[in-house]
Amino acid sequence: MNKENLKEAVEKRRTFAIISHPDAGKTTITEQLLLFGGVVREAGTVKARKTGNFAKSDWMEIEKKRGISVTSSVMQFDYAGKRVNILDTPGHEDFSEDTYRTLMAVDSAVMVVDSAKGIEPQTKKLFQVCKMRGIPIFTFINKLDRDGREPLDLCNELEEVLGIESYPMNWPIGMGKGLKGLYDIYNKRIELTTPDENGDIYVDLNEDGEIEGDHSLKEDSIYDQVLEEVELVKEAGSEFDADKIAKGELTPVFFGSALRNFGVTTFLDAYLQFAPAPGSHMTEAGTEIAPAAPEFSGFIFKIQANMNPRHRDRIAFIRICSGEFERGMDVNLSRTGKKLRLSNSTQFMADSRETLENAVAGDIIGLYDTGNFQIGDTIYTGKDKIQFEKLPQFTPELFVSVQAKNVMKQKSFHKGIEQLVQEGAVQLYQSYSTGEYILGAVGQLQFEVFQFRMENEYNSEVVMTPMGSKIARWINPEQLDEKMSSSRNLLVKDRQGAPLFLFENKFAERWFKDKYPEVELTAKL
Ligand code: GDP
Repeated sequence: MNKENLKEAVEKRRTFAIISHPDAGKTTITEQLLLFGGVVREAGTVKARKTGNFAKSDWMEIEKKRGISVTSSVMQFDYAGKRVNILDTPGHEDFSEDTYRTLMAVDSAVMVVDSAKGIEPQTKKLFQVCKMRGIPIFTFINKLDRDGREPLDLCNELEEVLGIESYPMNWPIGMGKGLKGLYDIYNKRIELTTPDENGDIYVDLNEDGEIEGDHSLKEDSIYDQVLEEVELVKEAGSEFDADKIAKGELTPVFFGSALRNFGVTTFLDAYLQFAPAPGSHMTEAGTEIAPAAPEFSGFIFKIQANMNPRHRDRIAFIRICSGEFERGMDVNLSRTGKKLRLSNSTQFMADSRETLENAVAGDIIGLYDTGNFQIGDTIYTGKDKIQFEKLPQFTPELFVSVQAKNVMKQKSFHKGIEQLVQEGAVQLYQSYSTGEYILGAVGQLQFEVFQFRMENEYNSEVVMTPMGSKIARWINPEQLDEKMSSSRNLLVKDRQGAPLFLFENKFAERWFKDKYPEVELTAKL
C-alpha cells in the first residue's frame, strides 16, 4: 500500500468497544450493526453463537455451563465507506481484567443501557477506564419498546453517576406500547416507528422545531409533551459540542430499540460521523507514533488460550497502532529484542475465522502464539525500537488462596501459575507471614478459567480457598512495618515484590488510616 492509500485506509477505520450490563441488549445491537454491514445474513447469528449453537469450541466447559462467551471477540464490517471494528466485552461476574484491557485497544466506546434499569455498577467501572483514557463514549438507551424510566431521569443519572455531561441526540416520543417515534434533535426531524399517512418514516421539523402543517402526530397529546421536554432539555442541559465528545467529556445519548431495529441506523450514522479515526500512540520514550506512519507497530492487549480445542496454542490479540500488517512479515519484539515472523494470522469475523491478508492501524488481529508474547508487548518493524506505554494495572477485588492438590506435583503447579500470571489471567500475591500464594482478580470468572486451565493445560489440580472481596492498597516499602499487619489487613507482596495490604473492608482501611496517618496507601486503577 502506498502512503496515500495507507492514510486513506486508516482514516476509514472506526474501532470501538461495546459495553453494557448483561441483558441490556449488547448482543442484539451488535447483530443489527453486523446486519447493516452485510456480515451476517440473519438476525440470531451472534446470539446462536453465544448460546452455544455455533460454538464448536467446547474448550471451555465454563463457557457452555454459564451460557456465555468468555472470549471477547472482534467483529468487523463495512458501512457507509467506513470499516468498523467492534470489540465485544464480557460483563457482570464474567468480568475480568481483559475487559478493562480491551478498552486500551479501542478509539471509542459504545455503552448500551437498559431504559428500565439505567447505569449499573460494572458499566460504571468500564466507563471510568474510558474516562481515564479520554476516549469518546456514545450512549444507546435501549428497549424503548418497553416501559422504562423517564428519559430525563436517565440522562440525569448518566451525568451524576458517571460525572460526565450528556447531550440527547434524540428524545423518545412515548414508550412501551405507546412508543410513536423519536424526536431527533440533532437531525432536526422526527423518526416514526410506523409510516405516517403519507407513507413517511422521517418528518422534517421547521426552524421552531415543529412539524410544518397538519400531521396526525400533532393531534396526539404526546406531541406537545415531547416538545415541552425537548425545550426543557435544551434550556437546562448541555450544548452539543463535538470537541467535548472527542475528549470524552460529553456523551451523546441515543434512544431506541435494538430488538425492533428502531433508532439503530440513526445511532450508527451519528456514531460514524463523530467517532474518531485511529489516533497516535505514545511510546515509553515519549515519541508519538502516528497511525499512518509507514512502519508497522502494535501492542498485545489480550491473550486467549485454546479457543479451538484442536489447537493447543494461544491467540494473541494485537491492536495495530501504525502502518500495515502483512502476512508473513518479520517484526521485532521489543521486550526481548528478538525477530519474529508473523505467518499464521487470523482475524475474527462474526461467523467465521478468516485468514487475514492485511490490516492497517486501527484494526485488531489475532495471531497464533506459541508462547512468544505477553500482554503489553510491543511489536514493530523498522530500525527504531518502539515500546508503547505500559498498559495500566487494575486493582483486583476478589481473592483466593491457592495450593496444588497433589503436593508431589509442585513443578507443574509452579509452571502453570507462572505462565498464567504472565499471561495476565490472574494476579499473583504472596503472604508475608506464611508465604502462601494468593490470587487476585476483578471477576470470579478469572478464577474459574485459571482452575480449568491449570488442570487442562498443566495437569495440575488446584485447591482454591475463597477469601472474598478485599481492598488492595499498595504501601510505600520504606514506611512498612510488618507489625502493621493483622487478620483484617493482610500483608502480601505482588510479583514485583512490592508490599500491599488486603483490607477486609472499608472500615478496616479507615481504622488503619486513623492509626497510621502518615502511611501512604495507593490503589491501582
Ligand atoms: P446482552 O446480554 O447485553 O448481550 O443482551 P442481549 O442482546 O442478549 O439481550 C437480552 C435480552 O433482551 C434478549 O432477550 C433480547 O431479545 C432482549 N432485547 C434486546 N434488545 C431489546 C429491545 O430493544 N427491546 C426488548 N423488548 N427486548 C430487547
